[in-house]
Amino acid sequence: MLIGLAAGFACQAQKFDLVIANGHVMDPESGLDAVRNIGITAGKIRAVSAKALSGRQTIDARGLVVAPGFIDIHSHGQDDENYRFKARDGVTTALEMEVGVWPVDAWYRARGGKALINFGATSGHIPARMAVMHDSGTLLPRDNAVNRAVSEAEVQQTFNDVRNGLEQRALGIGLGIAYVPWSSRDEILRIFGLAAERRTPIYVHMRNPGPVEPGVVDSLQEMIGDAAATGAPVHIVHVTSMAFRQTPLALQMIDGAKKRGLDITTECYPYTAAMTDISSAVFNTGWQERLGVSYGDLQWTATGERLNSETFQKYREQGGMVVIHSIPENMVKLALTHPGVMIASDGLIDHGKGHPRGAGTYSRVLGRYVREQRALSLMEALRKMTILPAQRIGMPNKGRIRAGADADIAVFDAAHVIDRATFEKPAQYSDGIPYVIVNGVVVVEKGQFRTGVFPGRGLRR
Ligand SMILES: [Zn+2]
Repeated sequence: MLIGLAAGFACQAQKFDLVIANGHVMDPESGLDAVRNIGITAGKIRAVSAKALSGRQTIDARGLVVAPGFIDIHSHGQDDENYRFKARDGVTTALEMEVGVWPVDAWYRARGGKALINFGATSGHIPARMAVMHDSGTLLPRDNAVNRAVSEAEVQQTFNDVRNGLEQRALGIGLGIAYVPWSSRDEILRIFGLAAERRTPIYVHMRNPGPVEPGVVDSLQEMIGDAAATGAPVHIVHVTSMAFRQTPLALQMIDGAKKRGLDITTECYPYTAAMTDISSAVFNTGWQERLGVSYGDLQWTATGERLNSETFQKYREQGGMVVIHSIPENMVKLALTHPGVMIASDGLIDHGKGHPRGAGTYSRVLGRYVREQRALSLMEALRKMTILPAQRIGMPNKGRIRAGADADIAVFDAAHVIDRATFEKPAQYSDGIPYVIVNGVVVVEKGQFRTGVFPGRGLRR
């Protein structure tokens, strides 16, 4: 009793760096769903209390939801332009897990002390292979790694490079089999073996999408088979843009594998279109059948125009990002509301051009699917944005509101939060997220950026 009182007094006397007062705190890990005050000092949450707390700075969060900052485990945009769109969408950690990076150390070094939000990446099989085969593509391969068979020596060199990236404490292994179609099933199985040995997940864009074999079913069977054979944890990226109308079947396969003890997870984004590089292997002969779309379903991001056979040829030679309108809305909703499926953006904004998911994913889920359509509860949506990805990346102090957790926090207005980014104008900040805090530092204040603050840290294993 006395100890309790003493702790109470100590708490009252303490002055925190920052207090978020009277907000509606929602923490999906603990289920806390009540008005609380949060005390933050030196980048960490130190107190979550029903009693008033005193701070050198106080944010009045009355009427606002206070949640763990969102963790985007699929974020290709890894520069200041993208981090700003992320922050205004409530994201406090953006990770490049699918493509990954190589070399790993140099990538982290380039961002240290200069990032608005937390960042991190996997050791990337694609960039390692591009370096080994001298492919001229930027994010994705477009010539040497696509057009010619890979030699055993090149397979071994890629493997060594990926392993080397893990030694530099990357967050797992990034794999995009569809983009390096000469990767044999044997090679992929070896990479799974490496992931299992290091007890780190593989984040994978599978071999093929769609209903025509080889398609999504056998691609998923490859992943489940390799995970079962090796014990590697595996995360299947953007399930809806691989499975399309077969999303229920894909989720059934993933759930079944999970039930039988495999560590397998997946994610989706809240849009009916995908985006990738038109010069990549995704558009090799047969793409119409594989993706179930034709020229008119392709939208060139640089201009917003829909394509025809002539413009398709022109841009394929040139290279660049193209939006693919290929995912039925009912499949988007099904994946978004399916238990255990995480929300992740797959976003990339390049000088204001791109897919709106790079700017609006999280507020779109909160505004459109939670508030307007009541497709899922607010707590469930937050779970998919915070604790599920935090558990996947194995970070016990991320994605939580509790004493001792990193002070990464999104404060939003549940009645007004909404995305503004569109396919025509993707570079538009979301609305209704007045405060975002990264490692205890306020980066968005009253809906505006604070200038000159770069509290984001590189996350490593
Ligand atoms: Zn992908």
